[in-house]
Amino acid sequence: MSIRVRFAPSPTGHIHVGNVRTALFNYLFARSQGGKFILRIEDTDLERSTLESEELIYEDLEWLGLDYDEGPKKGGEYGPYRQTERFDIYNKYAEKLIEEGYAYKCFCTKEELDTEREKASKEGRAYIYGGKCAHLTKEEIAERESRGEKASIRFRAFKPTILVQDMIHGDIEFPTNAFGDFIIIRPDGAPIYNYVVVIDDALMKITHVIRGDDHLSNTPKQALIYEAIGEKAPVFAHIPMILGPDHAKLSKRHGNTSVEEFRKAGYLKEAMINYMSLLSWSSDDERELFTMEELKEKFSMKRVSKSAAVFDFDKLKWMNGIYIRSKEISELLELCKPYIIESGLADEKYINENKEKVEAMLLSVRDNFTLLSDAPTYLKVYFELPDEITEEAMEMLNLPTSKGVLDLFLLKIAGKEYLDLETYRAIMKEIQKETLTKGKPLYMAVRCGITRSTKGPEMDSVATILPVAELTERIKATMEKAGMA
Ligand code: GLU
Repeated sequence: MSIRVRFAPSPTGHIHVGNVRTALFNYLFARSQGGKFILRIEDTDLERSTLESEELIYEDLEWLGLDYDEGPKKGGEYGPYRQTERFDIYNKYAEKLIEEGYAYKCFCTKEELDTEREKASKEGRAYIYGGKCAHLTKEEIAERESRGEKASIRFRAFKPTILVQDMIHGDIEFPTNAFGDFIIIRPDGAPIYNYVVVIDDALMKITHVIRGDDHLSNTPKQALIYEAIGEKAPVFAHIPMILGPDHAKLSKRHGNTSVEEFRKAGYLKEAMINYMSLLSWSSDDERELFTMEELKEKFSMKRVSKSAAVFDFDKLKWMNGIYIRSKEISELLELCKPYIIESGLADEKYINENKEKVEAMLLSVRDNFTLLSDAPTYLKVYFELPDEITEEAMEMLNLPTSKGVLDLFLLKIAGKEYLDLETYRAIMKEIQKETLTKGKPLYMAVRCGITRSTKGPEMDSVATILPVAELTERIKATMEKAGMA
């Protein structure tokens, strides 16, 4: 059997974390099994679905690197892959279901149904349709239609129980009187999710439906429809939900929740994919860091757990830091570029014309940050002398030895354009000998003179990346500000 799975988002905005994980598990399952991964756009909710949102889904999938084999733009043997283009198919199947007695036209109005629903709620029981239209004759139907009454199409819960087979939850038998006869096409012709999803999955030859377990309660209805259309239901795998750190369902109030928000916040797709893969899945060797290629080999539905996953923002950040540090520096610069430009530290032209230099800057700070968007904060030291000297720096500059160290440093770098590493180190050695100052008082004096702070990248980098003219200017300005001139 060749495996076919699908990701079936509704186009209502950027992909959400929960759906990213669903897409990823489908993708990894397909790739690990040599199967096909299909993208289907579930846009039957005409009010909420937009083509712009559909584009956002393509963008997000592309960014994440989840390439699909069939889909609306890509085509494929089982298209169209956008539900609004499949209404004829849904209608055709609905007619057949009516003919065979699995479905019927229901003329009950919204008001009538609301009354039924209220009554059930007052009596403290779950609402199920009372069955008023369940046995209308052909003549009655024709008569009501000729009067212009619009009917919905209702599927008959035709057997008392239905078995759902789930890879994660095992076999579950659902009583169908928990929901009763349910609408599959609204009076305005709009088909309902539980119905279209079955028609599509059946016709698209989907073998495994992997989705969030919030859909588990929909599955008995879907399983009934499979039986009615004479198709074998796919294997279901309902994956547990994702919780926030407080163990409530992950939502906006926990922080970023859409792919776009994470991307903008400076997360790398490698970290997103790796981290998301570990939400309710684990490898058999307790390893946690995986590239996409490794995941494609390692992933197995057997190791997807039943328990909900807690989204640990700190762990994702930590992982992001690891991926930042593993990038080639030129690629990392490309990734950080938009953030550097946006911060106003340097424009695109400067970065392109001084690529090597900016790469060296980045290399000196990249161990310190975990989000691409943090890069400018750490790079700032190379572009600006802060207005103020920090308290700790002031303390260092106030040491009796600092003025001597800085005066000598200025003297020794004078006339040069840049210091290379060797020269810088040699100069520091000479100053050490000549002033009998070493360790912190020596190095911190120079650092604080140049950066006005006791923290920051290695002086080996700062002193060799900045031109001597700038080093000189900075030290002089700092000495003056600190009253050392
Ligand atoms: N459009 C549905 C959703 O986004 C698809 C659910 C399913 O996979 O069946 O929740």
